[in-house]
Amino acid sequence: MGRRKQRRSRQQREQKAQHAQSHLTSILMNPLNHPRDVVESAAVHLSKVSQRHRLSVPTEVRSRVCRKCWGSHSFTSQFRVRIKAGQRLHTCLHCGYIRRYGAGPKAHRVARINGRGE
Ligand SMILES: [Zn+2]
Repeated sequence: MGRRKQRRSRQQREQKAQHAQSHLTSILMNPLNHPRDVVESAAVHLSKVSQRHRLSVPTEVRSRVCRKCWGSHSFTSQFRVRIKAGQRLHTCLHCGYIRRYGAGPKAHRVARINGRGE
C-alpha cells in the first residue's frame, strides 16, 4: 500500500539531491566566480544534502571542504598545507582538524594509481 509511490518519490528526491550536489560542486570548484559567503555556505549545504540523502560527496570536492566542520577549503586562507613524513597535511583553520593525504614516506616511490592521490 503506497509502496510504489514512496519508491518513486524517493527516486525523484534523489535526483533532485544529485542535481543540487552538482550545482554546489560547481560553486566549490569555481570559487572565484562567486561571492565568498556563497562558497562557504555551499560547502555546508553540500554536507547537509549529502548526509540527508545519504549520497557520497563528489570526489572533486572532497579535498575542498573540511570533513569535520564542513568549512570551505576553496581559498588558501582557510586551510594550511604542510608536508610531513611524505604525507600532505591539510589543517582546517576553522576547527583545527588535520586531514592527511598520501600513504607515507614510501608512497611516492611506487607508481601512483589514483593520479594525484586524492
Ligand atoms: Zn574544519
